[in-house]
Amino acid sequence: MQEDLAIAPDPFTTKVDADPVRHQSAPIAIAQSHLSKWQTCRRKFQHTYIDSLTTPISSIQEEKMQLGQKFHLLMQQHALGLDVEPLVVNYQDRKLQKWLDCSQEWLAQLQQSIGGDRHSEHRRTLSMPGSMSGSMSESMPGSELDNILAQRPERDKAAQVYTLTAVYDLVFFADSSALIVDWKTHQKPIPTSQLRASWQTRLYLFLLAETTAYQPDQLKITYWFANKAKATTLGYDAEQHERTRADLKEILAAIDQAKQTNDFPKIELTSSAVEVCKHCDFAYRCDRDALIEADASNKNNELVELLTSRSPQISDLPTELIKHPEQLATSLEQIPEIEI
Ligand code: SF4
Repeated sequence: MQEDLAIAPDPFTTKVDADPVRHQSAPIAIAQSHLSKWQTCRRKFQHTYIDSLTTPISSIQEEKMQLGQKFHLLMQQHALGLDVEPLVVNYQDRKLQKWLDCSQEWLAQLQQSIGGDRHSEHRRTLSMPGSMSGSMSESMPGSELDNILAQRPERDKAAQVYTLTAVYDLVFFADSSALIVDWKTHQKPIPTSQLRASWQTRLYLFLLAETTAYQPDQLKITYWFANKAKATTLGYDAEQHERTRADLKEILAAIDQAKQTNDFPKIELTSSAVEVCKHCDFAYRCDRDALIEADASNKNNELVELLTSRSPQISDLPTELIKHPEQLATSLEQIPEIEI
């Protein structure tokens, strides 16, 4: 599922109510993207969802995003039983046509093996209090939670309620099992361990288990990578479900706490943090840009040393070409005998 589709108008950007108790009672939607950012870096979460800071995207990213959106639209229309051919013709994109052909073949096989009803762009939500304790801390459907909240003591009313939200690209509901399908259009296949640990997998399965009669071990999620026409399927069980519940409670309580104290720290400076920060749009804002440049420069120096030892002609490269590893790699591609 594309992140943009998964998030309703951002709840953190709503106007602050003069009455803090009333304001805090308004539910805040939490999608997988919120949880991922929180886990990656709390400062990044703050900049994105509380300060509403945005950064421009490159034309290549924009193009990829549009292609992904077109594919999602095609799959949605197809699931509704509509003829998608006119749309495909209109798009005039061979890649899109190829993705569509491969996905239809795969979907037909899937439908045959699973059966049941299928729903596209299917939304599931669940209310969950942030920092309340006891039975109030259990997740529950909205109406039930509203009744309890109406009766709670005044002191508890400051506790924030969160609405966990997922929008599934496609879900199959069969008699004794359900399968979530997520289309991935702009990525290479992601390692299974990474998919398993992702908040998309965890939240999507958790919400389906909590809001339907299916048991966790009756649920699965499949990621279909359009570029490779390859699917990865992950199962689920009660143990994972309870771990996710515990982690969600912990994260929501921590978000509550951070909002109250306005404390959203940067990630601690380690070598792995550099890897995270150098891909982050807020590196300048966080004063981490110098660090990233130093890291890139060190890597360049190591790379140049290594390559120079293999082929002396590398040392003749103009220095501006080796400012960044990507530029260096591109330049070296022009030299046939060198492989990077
Ligand atoms: S640059 Fe690093 S510390 Fe700053 S928001 Fe991004 S990930 Fe967090």
